[in-house]
Amino acid sequence: MLRQYELVDLVKSYDPDADEDALNRAYVFAMKKHGAQLRASGDPYYSHPVEVAGILTKFKLDCSSIIAGLLHDTVEDTDTSIEEIKNLFGEQVAQIVDGVTKLAMIEQKSANKKQAENFRKLLLAMSEDIRVLLIKLADRLHNMRTLHFCAPEKRARIAKETLDIYAPLAERIGMQEVKSELEEIAFAELHKEAHDSIVARLNFLREQGNNLVPKIIQRLQKDMEENGIKATITGREKTPYSIWRKMQQKNATFEQLCDIMAFRICVDDVTTCYQALGVVHSKYHMVPRRFKDYISTPKPNGYKSIHTGVIGPENTRIEIQIRTYEMHEVAEKGVAAHWAYKQGERVVGRNFKWIRELLEILEQASNPEEFLENTKLEMYNDQVFCFTPKGDLIGLPINSTPVDFAYAVHSSVGDTCVGAKINGEIRPLRTVLQNGDQVEVLTSKAQHPSTEWERFVVTGKAKAAIRRYVRAHKREQFIEMGQQTLERTFKGENLELSDKGLVNVLPNFEAESIDDIYAKVGEGLISGWDVLRAVYPGYKQSKLEKVVNSLKPVFKKSLRKNKKEELKINGLIPGMAVHFSGCCHPLPGDRIVGIVTTGKGVAVHTIDCKQLEKYADEPERWLDISWGDEASQEGVHTGRLKVMLTNEPGSLGEFSNVVARYNGNISNLNIVNRTISYFELLVDIEVKDLKHLTDIIAALRASKVVSYVSRANQ
Ligand code: MN
Repeated sequence: MLRQYELVDLVKSYDPDADEDALNRAYVFAMKKHGAQLRASGDPYYSHPVEVAGILTKFKLDCSSIIAGLLHDTVEDTDTSIEEIKNLFGEQVAQIVDGVTKLAMIEQKSANKKQAENFRKLLLAMSEDIRVLLIKLADRLHNMRTLHFCAPEKRARIAKETLDIYAPLAERIGMQEVKSELEEIAFAELHKEAHDSIVARLNFLREQGNNLVPKIIQRLQKDMEENGIKATITGREKTPYSIWRKMQQKNATFEQLCDIMAFRICVDDVTTCYQALGVVHSKYHMVPRRFKDYISTPKPNGYKSIHTGVIGPENTRIEIQIRTYEMHEVAEKGVAAHWAYKQGERVVGRNFKWIRELLEILEQASNPEEFLENTKLEMYNDQVFCFTPKGDLIGLPINSTPVDFAYAVHSSVGDTCVGAKINGEIRPLRTVLQNGDQVEVLTSKAQHPSTEWERFVVTGKAKAAIRRYVRAHKREQFIEMGQQTLERTFKGENLELSDKGLVNVLPNFEAESIDDIYAKVGEGLISGWDVLRAVYPGYKQSKLEKVVNSLKPVFKKSLRKNKKEELKINGLIPGMAVHFSGCCHPLPGDRIVGIVTTGKGVAVHTIDCKQLEKYADEPERWLDISWGDEASQEGVHTGRLKVMLTNEPGSLGEFSNVVARYNGNISNLNIVNRTISYFELLVDIEVKDLKHLTDIIAALRASKVVSYVSRANQ
């Protein structure tokens, strides 16, 4: 075990300004707090945090990290509080220890380690400060080094978890050495036979080949020198775990895996990399399909290097990596990694620069404290990960709520959720979830999705489910809207709206109840004025109504006589009836889709029609259709306009004149709304195609009586 002064010396060797006093106090504090606790090895417990701190000095971490490493288990395993650490060692150390403690708690919560990917992301997201993660990795590394002291059944679980979670995590933040060591120990634990036989084979080859690695290094060194290239060459046998992985992936035997030796050529700059590559390929036979140039196309984690396989010196198949010193630094020690670039972004992001700066600063130890302090990890900060009561992890977008969580678990859970317990406490459904929250959704069969939820949910699944439900229950809303419309219409004319009056006119509207009338008005199938005129047949109409009604009889009968089948639409099912939907009135020129309806053939909708949402979950009903070339010559289509006219004498006449000048034929017209200065109309106009209607719209916009005009899509 590292002694107190040895640890201090180690830190001072790369950071002469380190706070010696604080280091000493932390060492003693950990020792006292862990007291008589023992490790499985029989060592005093405090040897563990001391060794973890020792590992952290290998990463050349700042003084706060080393102190936090010494204290990392005190809050979890002893009576120490974060407050106490804050008072004794300052805010920063306390925050790091708090972060490590939280990670430990998260680890215990997660029962389902199969979700390794989500769990790794959670750890990354939780470790706001990179130092938290580095301490966690050092902690795991020391635990792995002392794994053989644990009970066998515990060992397998820890080893598996290390392979699933921590080795990839180390790789992700670019710590190759840590990753390899974790993997080797876990491999030896989980697949002892395979491990031992690979090690035995390697030993055998080493003896037989009379230690080839140094010989090959020498030859390569000479090759470079002869060509005037300054290079540092290293070589190694691949690790047993990486050989085993290759054997698995390629389904190869050990004998088939000839290139168990890998060499690395490090040079000053990129140009020299390619010169070195030229030398290697001209001297040795290249093994097909082994060449990869990650310099011109770096790996997603920023890794840069040239890889090639050749039949090298001594007639041995070897792998050679060629890179600059800088690339090597980033690949081996660097915290280079995935957070450097969000998916899809190119490599040289802000964060990548940050990693380089971090490396430089750690290397020079000029002022790492300040630097690390301001450096928060920005990984997965657009996501939040929460646990189910069973310990499954669910990843959601940031700002998600228990309702989003419920829908992510299952639609039926979302539809019936009435409340949620977050970390054991009842919380409102609109509560924003935090990383690591455990969420228990409370359900009731009597509950239904609420339109209220739509205001705070963020996931598409929750939104779609709520809308689906609301659409199905729109009638209630139509009733409400219709009632309001009628009340307005009647009140505007100072007439009484009574149930009795409405009951009398039910047959006029094929309605069976007053609610039916309300619903029809709300849905826009009949207007408030239709109802008013029915209830008060003799009512003297307003001037405007008179004008509209006087115009109605002059509308020519529609020219289109249901010759829909003659219309040329590509992609229809032969023999299937087709009709144009009344919601969006598609015209030749519109992008269209067909929906196979039950019993009424194919309904044609414009591609942006809101009604299509209804069929979102039934892809089998969608038909890819398009207008044929002659569609616009094939007769007449109805386009629907929403128009707002100024409420003045002659405006309606002027409006119909414009339409007529452009050879449009008004086939229907309804007032939907009016105020003192404007009235709003829905107008059906028969046109040839989309361009024809667009021309009319343009002309109408130029007219001074038209204050607003557009196509009505609903
Ligand atoms: Mn620990």
